[in-house]
Amino acid sequence: MQHFPIFLAVQGQRITLSGGGEAALAKLRLLMKTEARIDVFAAAVAPEIETWASEGKLTLTRRTLASGDVDGSALFYAADEDEAEDSRTAGLARAAGVLVNVVDNLHDSQFITPAIVDRDPVTVAIGTEGAAPVLARAIKADLEARLPVTLGPLARIGKAFRKVAEALPFGRARRDFWADYYFNAGPRAMDEGGETAVHPALDALLNDHLTRPQRDGHVAFVGAGPGDPELLTLKARRALDEADVVIYDRLISKEILELARREALMLDVGKEGFGPSTPQEVINDLLVEHARKGAQVVRLKSGDSTVFGRLDEEIDACDAAGVTWHIVPGITAASAAVAGIGQSLTKRGRNASVRFLTGHDMKGFADHDWATLARPGEVAAIYMGKKSARFIQGRLIMHGADRATAITVIENASRPDQRILSTTLDTLPTDLAEAEMTGPALTFYGLAPRAAALALPEMQKELA
Ligand code: SAH
Repeated sequence: MQHFPIFLAVQGQRITLSGGGEAALAKLRLLMKTEARIDVFAAAVAPEIETWASEGKLTLTRRTLASGDVDGSALFYAADEDEAEDSRTAGLARAAGVLVNVVDNLHDSQFITPAIVDRDPVTVAIGTEGAAPVLARAIKADLEARLPVTLGPLARIGKAFRKVAEALPFGRARRDFWADYYFNAGPRAMDEGGETAVHPALDALLNDHLTRPQRDGHVAFVGAGPGDPELLTLKARRALDEADVVIYDRLISKEILELARREALMLDVGKEGFGPSTPQEVINDLLVEHARKGAQVVRLKSGDSTVFGRLDEEIDACDAAGVTWHIVPGITAASAAVAGIGQSLTKRGRNASVRFLTGHDMKGFADHDWATLARPGEVAAIYMGKKSARFIQGRLIMHGADRATAITVIENASRPDQRILSTTLDTLPTDLAEAEMTGPALTFYGLAPRAAALALPEMQKELA
């Protein structure tokens, strides 16, 4: 992010603009929406500016900007549409320590003006770092179509009601009330009776919410999928929208965390491979503690929570504490990884079953398991298998597996930095070491990428 979006308090502040043509008009139309004092300097101005000046909407000085004119302004716009003049006026403003925007000149501007959706007091600012104004306009049009014009009045009336609504306990109860107002009761009252109907509707709604029994705490075990936020289920999104507390693992991508409610308490209980981790008992206690306080807790686990996620221990903790829970399934890493290589997990005539294994438990793998896996046509999805690659190779070869058996390792499946390593049992450990994979990786035993998938611009090793 090269530009940080903020909302600047400009009430009673000066904003100065140099210029009187088209560019000046466009900026002034936006600036006049604010409660700032607007000073315009220009030798020649468009008639609209004359009119606005005569209506007292801005102060017009009919000469070019001079030293001292900008002093004390909050913002300055160089809008003369003339490179030399813009550079001169911008220089004056900069010398006066005022933030400068040179219209249509990203490079010399200290701030840029976003595309704005105005549902005052609700304001949406859209920026593309100057990269795609067309895109910004399209997003603006889209939002404008989606946000009813009644949103402005509803928000204004709501704002005045905030103090009264504090009769509700802080947190979920208050949020539920406001959600009910903005998305149900408010728009309905506005439709039926206009602005005057909104106040009585708010009173009735508050009364209704004050007399409701409080919602109990609850834990949702939510599968976050392999990383791509578009692979979240709709139910997972809804749970994140409603969460008071989100307890998440290391593998949850930051794009997905972004989707949680801003006010939600975000607790990182990440475990890293064999390294330091938050003890499971601590996680169990956190779940119970927050749910008991009445929070809607989302326990966010990568992939599907029912696959190598120690889910049962957490469920047992909830049950023991009398905390209700439910599971929202997710897309497990094996599903995302197999999609990435264009293959099936099972295939008629090749394998009628597939095993999900974890590299962690391999040491306790019984000999008959190795012998079964070593047979031709077997397919296994190995989670957390990077560190045990050499061990797996040794055991399988010892039990008679063909050294040429295909192995595919998919790192960061479904994420933009997904990489595919296509190798064989024979060369797995060396190829893996060479590939230096640092992201989560899933190892497929007995599967090679489909030929077409091999054409992907991934890191590829030719099959021996
Ligand atoms: N519950 C998860 C698995 C947790 S165990 C699931 O259903 O996917 C963590 C292991 O999952 C990692 O070590 C890695 O082997 C695998 N994994 C998770 N996300 C992955 C991804 N995006 N790409 C490849 N493997 C992944």
